[in-house]
Amino acid sequence: MYYVGAHVSAAGGVENAPLNAAKLGANAFALFTKNQRRWEAKPLTKGSIKKFRDSCERLGFAPEQVLPHDSYLINLGHPEAEPLEKSRNAFIDELQRCEQLGLCYLNFHPGSHLRKVDEEVCLNTIAESINIALDQTSGVTAVIENTAGQGSNLGNRFEQLGHIIERVEDKSRVGVCLDTCHTFASGYDLRDRDDCETTFAEFERYVGFQYLKGMHLNDSKAEYASRKDRHHSLGMGEIGLEVFRYIMTDDRFRGVPMVLETIDDTIWAEEIQMLRSFQNPA
Ligand SMILES: [Zn+2]
Ligand SMILES: [Zn+2]
Repeated sequence: MYYVGAHVSAAGGVENAPLNAAKLGANAFALFTKNQRRWEAKPLTKGSIKKFRDSCERLGFAPEQVLPHDSYLINLGHPEAEPLEKSRNAFIDELQRCEQLGLCYLNFHPGSHLRKVDEEVCLNTIAESINIALDQTSGVTAVIENTAGQGSNLGNRFEQLGHIIERVEDKSRVGVCLDTCHTFASGYDLRDRDDCETTFAEFERYVGFQYLKGMHLNDSKAEYASRKDRHHSLGMGEIGLEVFRYIMTDDRFRGVPMVLETIDDTIWAEEIQMLRSFQNPA
């Protein structure tokens, strides 16, 4: 089964996210379990948790079809002790929220060195942060998202993702989410089938598809290898549609939540339908 959906709103409470996803005809979704631009969050209420779980069950969203995303403020590779500690605590809180909701993944951006330490030191700090967080939680897999490599963000090279995973002690609870926009912007071409073959072979080589736990399906406003993170609607950007046809007919992408973060949410339902049409070409 291919699980396709979008990063939907959880305004008014997490329990609204599965309802918003179902309205799109999605069989996957992403959400924030708290305000993604703030450090503090009230704990999830028992009522909210129950409604979320009930809705997911009623609407047919199993845990592996849901890809929660953490706060943008968290930097698990922060070069300074105090903000690193703050990030680690916030990340543990996010994992616990996922546990409470009965979910099995938490998607996050690896971190930034802020030009204060070298790449390898930062990657090792990120791995250590993941180890600490996994140690204090259970049942939720830490899903590292590849980045466009904007600013000092790490995780734009597959080698870097591999480096982090290598240092994570519990390999059964670490995974990767590939964002097509970030992949392309960071310098892995996806414009035609041959490009896709080459890029995903690189991914297999340095990370491995056994770690693929999610996809973000986005076209890119910014050009190839620009290292800029600018999403676009499918087929309207620099990548074009071929990669999405490729993904929807390649078995390696089955069974993981694949979510749109495209810029026009009024056409998400159509984009989901289009993706499904690629799966079963007429
Ligand atoms: Zn993304
Ligand atoms: Zn992005």
